[in-house]
Amino acid sequence: MDNTIIYLAYLVASCLFILGIKGLTKPRTAVRGNQLSALGMLIAVVVTLLDHSIISYQWIIAGIIVGGAIGAFMAKKIQVTAMPQMVALLNGFGGGASLFIAIANFLDPASATHTVALISIGATVLIGSVTLSGSFIAFAKLQELISGNPIRVPGNKVINLVLLVAAIALSGAIVVDPTQIDLIYALAAVSLLLGIFLVIPIGGADMPVVIALLNSYSGIAAATTGFITGNTVLIVAGALVGASGIILTQIMCKAMNRSLFNVLFGVMGEGGVVADADEVYAGKVKSTSPEEVAMLLETAERVVIVPGYGLAMAQAQHAVRDLANELQRRGTDVKYAIHPVAGRMPGHMNVLLAEAEVPYEQLIEMDEINPQFEQTDVAIVIGANDVTNPLAREDKTSPIYGMPILNVDKARTVIVIKRSLSPGFAGIPNPLFANDNTLMLFGDGKKEIVELTKDLKEAD
Ligand code: NDP
Repeated sequence: MDNTIIYLAYLVASCLFILGIKGLTKPRTAVRGNQLSALGMLIAVVVTLLDHSIISYQWIIAGIIVGGAIGAFMAKKIQVTAMPQMVALLNGFGGGASLFIAIANFLDPASATHTVALISIGATVLIGSVTLSGSFIAFAKLQELISGNPIRVPGNKVINLVLLVAAIALSGAIVVDPTQIDLIYALAAVSLLLGIFLVIPIGGADMPVVIALLNSYSGIAAATTGFITGNTVLIVAGALVGASGIILTQIMCKAMNRSLFNVLFGVMGEGGVVADADEVYAGKVKSTSPEEVAMLLETAERVVIVPGYGLAMAQAQHAVRDLANELQRRGTDVKYAIHPVAGRMPGHMNVLLAEAEVPYEQLIEMDEINPQFEQTDVAIVIGANDVTNPLAREDKTSPIYGMPILNVDKARTVIVIKRSLSPGFAGIPNPLFANDNTLMLFGDGKKEIVELTKDLKEAD
């Protein structure tokens, strides 16, 4: 194929990636954004396949069939709550693919001659290996194949430093003397170990942030692979993934009010004082029934639904949409309050509610909804805990102090639907549950909402 056509096609694909990412920034344009990116990827793949540098198609076809079948099977089987570990696994595969391409190019005397290619090979093996082993550890922690708690290895930070220095030295050595084939394997081994030691001390609960970071690494590894193979569209796509992954990591850290350093090298809640649950709740918690809540909702004019991780656990998104429809049919104004880190992955609540076809305009971001809670008759908190905890606003000694929260406690009445008084991700009690204006509806999110909607319908 003519080189000009190839470059033009790659340019079109790169533009489609950028437009796709732009589309993904808003729920309304997200589906189109996804389609544009997919079209860009199709163009990039087809043009690369038609490029004269393909030697044999058999392996590629076999790879597409086997990989496609495994991917389709995984996508069908996966529960939405297990999405973070699936993303971890896919990041790992991305890093692994870059690693193997780099090693193959190093072993091919024709391609590993230029200094730029050799530097890129060193960088790709290092970053690709860290991504591969780090992502697999993240997967194992989230899948509970190994303990999700931080695993403390004596001298972990020193080990990390030694491994990093060794990996950089080995990357330099392969540039100086590319005839030393064993060096590439030593670099891969050291970098794989580095990935394990970097991720093993991090608690399972912090894994989503680590996964966003590893996603960024897999993009950087793809970009450096583009330099090895001279493929411009891979450089662009890798750079986009690398940059967006790092921005996402920053957004998640900011929404949790933690620094990336604290996530990577600290422990959630380190240094904070965790109040005793008995002291917070004793004698102050009032429980209610679906029937009572239905009566409250009958007269409510403004209702805000506050979803959290428990909504995903209970798979209550369709039930919540039915409740909202019923309320709207009765003339009640219904909105959903969306916290940036509600759930366990960015956009978790948006994805769940979109699946239930809740209109986008009803999903209101934290900064916009917070001033509206004072005019809200009933706030229904379903499976959300930390993102509503007033301690984050008021108690300087709390481990979550400073994390921006949804001010649900300002609503006239707050209904909290969860199974018990158990804490959420941060492991701390929530004084909201003991507030004068709070009623606890104990039970599974979906079951209670279905009951509640039934009672509300029967009230006609
Ligand atoms: P939380 O983890 O604070 O609380 C979830 C609550 O859901 C639990 O208290 C649990 O209570 C309840 N729950 C579980 N299963 C059910 C069920 N079947 N029915 C009803 N309730 C249920 O969730 P939030 O969404 O409020 O907060 C998210 C937390 O995750 C934040 O601390 C955030 O920093 C953290 N995080 C989020 C990330 C993201 O990207 N979104 C990434 C990393 C961390 P009970 O057991 O009593 O039912």
